[in-house]
Amino acid sequence: MSESRYVVIVTGIPGVGKTTVINTAVDLVKEQHGEDVIVLNFGTEMFEVAVKAGQVKDRDEMRKMPTAQQRANQKLAGEAIAEKAKSARVIVDTHTLIQTNNGYLIGLPEWVVRAIQPKTVVLVEAESEKIAGRRTSDETRTRDAQAITDIQIHQEMCRGAAVSVGTITGSTVRIIKNREGKVEEAAKELAETIME
Ligand code: ATP
Ligand code: AMP
Ligand code: MG
Repeated sequence: MSESRYVVIVTGIPGVGKTTVINTAVDLVKEQHGEDVIVLNFGTEMFEVAVKAGQVKDRDEMRKMPTAQQRANQKLAGEAIAEKAKSARVIVDTHTLIQTNNGYLIGLPEWVVRAIQPKTVVLVEAESEKIAGRRTSDETRTRDAQAITDIQIHQEMCRGAAVSVGTITGSTVRIIKNREGKVEEAAKELAETIME
């Protein structure tokens, strides 16, 4: 009998459009297959932990906290997500590499992904210049300024980090391009992965 895996982890650098593509894909799956997909946002789980502990007031402050604190919150959030992700068709909206004041924090260390056992890790990518533009025009969030060349490097490193998750868990790794003004195209690919 083949194993059952239902969780798709969606990653990509800040402002690439993960949340937008996920929301569109969930609507598409509902429309075309009549199925509900549960979306779990790792940042939201961590934010709840951080707010309860009185550590931050805004989700974009979390990556500035001491990394030991971020790791502790990440562990709690990861456990909560793994527990909730037991139901069918779940998407986890998160990051593979979080830019902190002390280098990149690994978003999906082995103790987090081993518990979740994803079917696929999706890496959402876009042109670096477009990502810079999306960050600037989105006033709902406080995203960090990053030189275009650094955005490029960050995206390249995310490919390596996504492959690491695949190595640990046996998941597939799928790159989805979120082209400017073409959210629906990216969402269609994500919907295929969810329903595979
Ligand atoms: P974070 O990691 O910080 O949560 P994110 O990857 O979830 O970021 P979104 O919040 O989905 O990114 O999108 C960032 C901004 O880019 C939003 O204003 C969104 O409307 C816009 N955006 C998303 N996809 C596209 C696209 N294909 N073309 C143009 N704008 C887009
Ligand atoms: P997001 O809304 O996806 O940008 O998430 C908000 C914040 O949550 C990020 O800026 C990070 O500080 C934190 N976060 C999200 N996912 C992870 C993760 N897997 N590990 C550590 N921190 C994370
Ligand atoms: Mg988001």
